[in-house]
Amino acid sequence: MKEAFFPGAVYAVGGASPRVMMAPPKYIQGAGVLDHICHYLSLLDRQRFGILASSRGHRAEGGRVAESIQQSGGTSISAVFEGECSVAQVDKHSADLVDARIDCLIAVGGGKCVDAGKCIAYRVGVPVVIVPTLASNDAPCSALSVMYSDAGVMDGAEFFPDNPVLVVVDTSVVAAASARYLVAGMGDAMATWYEARVCAANPHARTVLGARPTLAAGVLGELCADILYRHGEQARQDVSSGVVSSALDDVVEANTLLSGIGFESGGLAGAHGYAQGFTNLRQVEANFLHGEMVAMGVVAQLMMEGDDAEARRVAAFFARVGLPVTLEQIGVARNKDKELEVVAAGAMGFLGFENLPFPVTQEKVTSGLLAGDALGQTVIAELGDDAYRALQA
Ligand SMILES: [Zn+2]
Repeated sequence: MKEAFFPGAVYAVGGASPRVMMAPPKYIQGAGVLDHICHYLSLLDRQRFGILASSRGHRAEGGRVAESIQQSGGTSISAVFEGECSVAQVDKHSADLVDARIDCLIAVGGGKCVDAGKCIAYRVGVPVVIVPTLASNDAPCSALSVMYSDAGVMDGAEFFPDNPVLVVVDTSVVAAASARYLVAGMGDAMATWYEARVCAANPHARTVLGARPTLAAGVLGELCADILYRHGEQARQDVSSGVVSSALDDVVEANTLLSGIGFESGGLAGAHGYAQGFTNLRQVEANFLHGEMVAMGVVAQLMMEGDDAEARRVAAFFARVGLPVTLEQIGVARNKDKELEVVAAGAMGFLGFENLPFPVTQEKVTSGLLAGDALGQTVIAELGDDAYRALQA
């Protein structure tokens, strides 16, 4: 098994702080691309593919990938993902797939399956191909995995020297999933710009690679936010009707490619710290998606920064697409001081807060949440409770 990889030990060695840009070498997105995946895989010159997917995934998209490989004369071995990207699950699959002598791993599924695939491929020593079945997060393109305990609490990250060698996104598959996933992806993707701009403006800020952000990643992050503001609502409607439209295609690219490159080489800040804090509450972790927690974090971070105008703009957008903007909507009873304390204490452990241009205390983290909640309530009142509830239906 390979040693753990620490990007800071490469890029930030000797006090250097170069700008570093990372991205997958190939990204392919379109309706129906899954049926042609053997052609894209032929570029990798591999023969024995492991396919990691949930049992449902193997019966659906994973099965289509296996069929395409078989038609081109390749071999595939199935591995069943059991729901959590934890060290125990990853190690178990890695041992099995080393024995199966695969020379490439394809992870087919949502964020946690994708992240587990990256960990397993690194341990086995083979390249990883990512086939996201949802556009609910920005995991597919990056060279890191968010780790969870077996109980589902966010528990740090693992890093890899290389990004996935190929990312294939079938927009028909994404369009067939519940709108909630695409919407959650918009929350995760919207954070990209607001976190990257903090890092770009603060000369002491570092990306997850321990490096300085690149201008390129900043521009992609800003474009990502722009696409969401312009096409997010339309894309939400289109995915609700299962239609692959240009708005949906644009938002899928924003959620997956722009956000993925944008966060990895542009830097994180407070929004993801809040998301980490929320995973410490069982009722939130069990019932809400990563991007929904990040959305709450975006508004809270902007309130912490004192950028009320931008906080209002983003909160209004989140409400219009049906993302949670109040503590109640994300399952936290506002008067339960204890719950807020758990979230804030959990958030404090996240390094991204250090990228903000002022010292971050637990009190500041809590007041950001409360101020975001108050703004969220105003925004929902303006939109109308009924209109918001209709989005949840
Ligand atoms: Zn995220």
